[in-house]
Amino acid sequence: MRGKGFAVKLLFFFLVIGIVMVFFSVSTDEGASKEVVLKSEKIEELFPAKENKNVEETSKYVEIVLSAVGDCTLGSDEKYSKYGSFDEELKKQNYDYSYFFREVKPVFEKSDLVIANLEGPLTTSTERADKEFAFKGDPSYAKILKEGKIDAVNLANNHSFDYGKRGFYDTVKALKEEGIGFFGYGYSYITEVKGVKIGVLGYTGYDDTAATKQMIKKDIEKMRQSVDILVMSFHWGEENKYYPNKVQMNLGRFSIDEGADVVIGHHPHVLQGIEIYKGKYIAYSLGNFVFGGNKNPKDKDSMIFQQIFVLDENKKIVEIKLRIIPVSISSEKDRNDYKPKILAGEERDRVLRKIQNLSYLNPLSLQ
Ligand SMILES: [Zn+2]
Repeated sequence: MRGKGFAVKLLFFFLVIGIVMVFFSVSTDEGASKEVVLKSEKIEELFPAKENKNVEETSKYVEIVLSAVGDCTLGSDEKYSKYGSFDEELKKQNYDYSYFFREVKPVFEKSDLVIANLEGPLTTSTERADKEFAFKGDPSYAKILKEGKIDAVNLANNHSFDYGKRGFYDTVKALKEEGIGFFGYGYSYITEVKGVKIGVLGYTGYDDTAATKQMIKKDIEKMRQSVDILVMSFHWGEENKYYPNKVQMNLGRFSIDEGADVVIGHHPHVLQGIEIYKGKYIAYSLGNFVFGGNKNPKDKDSMIFQQIFVLDENKKIVEIKLRIIPVSISSEKDRNDYKPKILAGEERDRVLRKIQNLSYLNPLSLQ
């Protein structure tokens, strides 16, 4: 009888071991399928690069990778309930500032310059502007940008003065303290990477009057003298509109006519198409990114817009390549957890197709 009891125990023991092994093999498989593969074959199928002259093979050429993302609101509206808010999420994460950009940081680390639109001040001011939506975050939130490997942010937008002039200058101070660059509203940003000088100008692009164009023309002319790559950032267009309006198109093309190398837009909170104009790219809207302004936006599609500039020994751009990395602004489907994730599989293909369909102006096949 004892023998039989022992045999039953032994059988039970192996059964338990077996279940544990099956469980682990399943979870390992799951982990593997979740791994994000940043292959770009498909992207290049969609957006074939220009005929390559084997430029990478010779060392006299240098490649600069620019990554740009859309609206980042680090904080929220005081009028919102705390539940599910940006600030609550940070608290939940024990004030781990690296939480928000964690999933996309590997892409940024491999970039030479990373820019975003900072949609809202970082301030302790309590003087909320009298408007429907007014955002703010604590000045310490500049650390989120630092942790996320963001190099510089656009300040020219409709939320920078949500807490007045003080809110704006608190933001500038907070960014400076963390070594984050900024541009727009009188500021421009110039940096040097791999011996290449890159400059960024930021504007709100709500009108295309002669005065606006004159200002842009003058700024480009001046900056062009000291940089090799000139990037334009525009806060423009209409909210929740998937197609650019005439002002966006006019200002975007005008900027390139005057000497910009790429035009990057934001504000509509959704993606808009990309146009190739005179061999250069205009990305009309990058959508949201780390966006504390909405606890659950219906459309969570976004992208990391990359421009790969190839320059020759005279620092002249000889080739510009486009790479799109489709993103969801939230890792969770039914709410915003403020942690953008890189899409894979069908979702990735869907967002790529969407961008391609939105790029109706000049279908991306001009090569
Ligand atoms: Zn805006």
